[in-house]
Amino acid sequence: MSRHRYDGNISELKHYFNSVIEWVSSIFTDVESEMRGIEWGRLYEKYHKQPYSPQQVSTDVKKLYGDPYIKNRKGIFEYILGGSVDTKLLEVRVFDEAIKKSVYMKQTDEAFAKSISNCPLCAIGHDANKSKFWKLNEMDADHVTAWSKGGATDIANCQMLCKTHNRAKGNK
Ligand SMILES: [Zn+2]
Repeated sequence: MSRHRYDGNISELKHYFNSVIEWVSSIFTDVESEMRGIEWGRLYEKYHKQPYSPQQVSTDVKKLYGDPYIKNRKGIFEYILGGSVDTKLLEVRVFDEAIKKSVYMKQTDEAFAKSISNCPLCAIGHDANKSKFWKLNEMDADHVTAWSKGGATDIANCQMLCKTHNRAKGNK
């Protein structure tokens, strides 16, 4: 009796694992080594009712794999399943201190010459911050063209914004 129940549980479990595996392989047709060690069971529970196009997914996976700014490749799968919006999963590279400092110096020199704020968004505003001078540690680096829209994490695509404006801009 108990033995039968045990068999029943095992076959249910097998059935479940097979469903998860079938689901994963129906969506991700290219097998990548990073697919190991991912909590597929959790992702199955969360996303298996959603429709995906394997061709589109394959194109997206290849594109993200070729992106040198993505630090967490394991995050690519959940990022795609979630509709390619949660960039936190990818740990996209941030600007390093040398780039920030260099952009800050250039912006600050130019702003100083024109007596406007060294935050370009404050400078075009209409309040007292129009001519406010921010210190380096009061500013954050921003992707001029968002990474999600193809903007690179390099000096040409970096601007320093005051923390308020950087937060307001949001989309990295
Ligand atoms: Zn500002």
